[in-house]
Amino acid sequence: MDNNARNLQPLIEALDDVILELTELAVIKQVWAKDKTKLFLPPEFFIGKSIPEVFGEFGNIFIKCIDDLLNTGERQQCVYPDFDENKHLWYCAKFQKIDSSEEEVRIICVIEDITAKKELNDQLEKNSLELKRINDLLEIGHEISKMGGWEYDTIRKELFLTKQIYEINESDDHIVINCNNMTKSFDKENKVKLLKALRITLSQNIAFDLELELITAKRNKKWVRISGLPIMKNQKVRIFRGILKDITEIKNNQLELIEAKNLAEQVARKRTETLSIMSHEIRTPLNAIIGISNLLDQDTFSNNDIKEYVDHLRYSSNHLLHLINDILDLEKIECKKMELNEIPTNLVSLVNNIYKQFVPFAKTKNLSLNFNHDHQIPQSLLIDDLRLSRILNNLIGNAIKFTEKGEVNIILKTLIDQHHQTSILFKISDTGIGIPEHLHNLIFDKFHQVNQDSHRQQEGSGLGLNITKGLVRLFDSEIRLTSKPYVGSIFEFKIDFKKCLPLQPEQKIESLEFDFPPLPDFKLLIVDDNATNLLVASRQLHQFGINADKADNAYTAIEYLKKERFDVVLVDLHMPGMDGYQLAKYIQDNYPETKVIIFTADVLEEVRFRLKEMGIQYILSKPFKPEEMFELFLEVLEVK
Ligand code: ADP
Repeated sequence: MDNNARNLQPLIEALDDVILELTELAVIKQVWAKDKTKLFLPPEFFIGKSIPEVFGEFGNIFIKCIDDLLNTGERQQCVYPDFDENKHLWYCAKFQKIDSSEEEVRIICVIEDITAKKELNDQLEKNSLELKRINDLLEIGHEISKMGGWEYDTIRKELFLTKQIYEINESDDHIVINCNNMTKSFDKENKVKLLKALRITLSQNIAFDLELELITAKRNKKWVRISGLPIMKNQKVRIFRGILKDITEIKNNQLELIEAKNLAEQVARKRTETLSIMSHEIRTPLNAIIGISNLLDQDTFSNNDIKEYVDHLRYSSNHLLHLINDILDLEKIECKKMELNEIPTNLVSLVNNIYKQFVPFAKTKNLSLNFNHDHQIPQSLLIDDLRLSRILNNLIGNAIKFTEKGEVNIILKTLIDQHHQTSILFKISDTGIGIPEHLHNLIFDKFHQVNQDSHRQQEGSGLGLNITKGLVRLFDSEIRLTSKPYVGSIFEFKIDFKKCLPLQPEQKIESLEFDFPPLPDFKLLIVDDNATNLLVASRQLHQFGINADKADNAYTAIEYLKKERFDVVLVDLHMPGMDGYQLAKYIQDNYPETKVIIFTADVLEEVRFRLKEMGIQYILSKPFKPEEMFELFLEVLEVK
């Protein structure tokens, strides 16, 4: 042992490590070890032996360190496990040159047992990996659930937010959100809610959970759920911790659902309201019909009363029929089932006929009814005459109804006349009671009648203007109203019509008087399961001089047909068992000479279409006017 080594001896003895002195050829010159058991052989065994001789292949990492040390002059170290795998021990060998006056190079190798250190390190590494994994999972969870965490230190007044909260708030990462700028994220109402919740949390030490509207840094509005929990220290809230979750989507869905529910409730309410008004409207004329029938039944009336009773009966029944037709039209308009059926029409003649029908009504009220039009209006235009008549009838009827003195004017004016089409302005004005401005939109609503103090309520159902507005829309136009109470009203609209050729023959004016010439003798069978309808039809035919046979179902009708030959059979459509369609088919197949008239209250387009498909051309609608029934028989019997 040289002097240097001897001086180091006490120091080396104090260490737990094994220390070797090596030559540059990796030959062991000296060995020190406080705990000799750490050397697997007596120290003397190592002296003079080279590293490969002692450690075999295992010594290669030592040789590499020694080479590196000699090449660089820098300290080297390596970590390696015990030769004996079962021991699970780890060592660290550090190599360093020591200065020496002698020429030969001296290397000191300190071998430290690092098993405990390494286990600790390994555990730390494992823990930090696990922590990272938990963090990653938390982050993904927050990302997916659009949720972030926050923490507020009540002493330091510091606010910590996770990156998701920055994202929800649409803030730039470099702008730190603190308590001051965070309050800008809520409007007054929401701020008050938040502060109130925080105050309760502070005083009662309970968690809070709120839904608030947040204004983001980019001034967008978002719904957030914010929950927080106080952490106590020395009976004081030290820290607040919680989450903030973006619930905009859920909230919007909820709001949409609430809106849809409100709308559905509104529709249901409106439907009930409509039904209730409808039932009231239907009951009113029915009350008159039933009441008068009861009076007639009591046999206490004079002959003078009869005329009055019959007038009331006819008036109420017609009113009821109008109402039902209106309701059906309304349904068609609302379901957009109505389509224009345009045919070549002389517009001026059409309006003139309508005007003439209203003249007697205007006269009864001492009103002057005028029809003016310019002479540019083409003679033949493609018009759905029925629908246009309906609009004009409603407007002119109302104008006369709601005017007590003065005049009602019907004006047609050509606005644009082009090669293929012409644009006409329709204007119906009156000098009647007028309509206050705040009711201008309301009167176009279903069943809306204006109760004006100045005027007793007029007859009508309040459906007219609603239908009129719908029909004008069908013509691709809008109705406009100008009106002033006690001055009068103007209803106007403009329609573009296509011009056409050839001209329609003049429309004939419906005669109000009706004569019934005698019908030729013919054999008729009436089939209807409703006793009243059977009675009404047969009595009316009796008035025309025809005695019909009657059957109250299709099977009895077939019995009749088998016995004798009939010229015409009047068939009700809806009958129990074999219905009108089947009976008509049976007659067509077995008695082709016999003509079938379908007698029905069904006014649906589908029914008409089905009958047409079957080749049935004669239909008598219920209820019928005597003249309609008579004209149909003239047609069926081909009386010129
Ligand atoms: P109805 O005439 O059957 O009551 P309408 O829908 O045709 O129903 O009209 C609705 C309401 O509009 C009427 O009840 C009436 O108050 C008002 N109205 C319609 N036309 C006129 C008019 N020319 N002048 C004054 N009021 C009118």
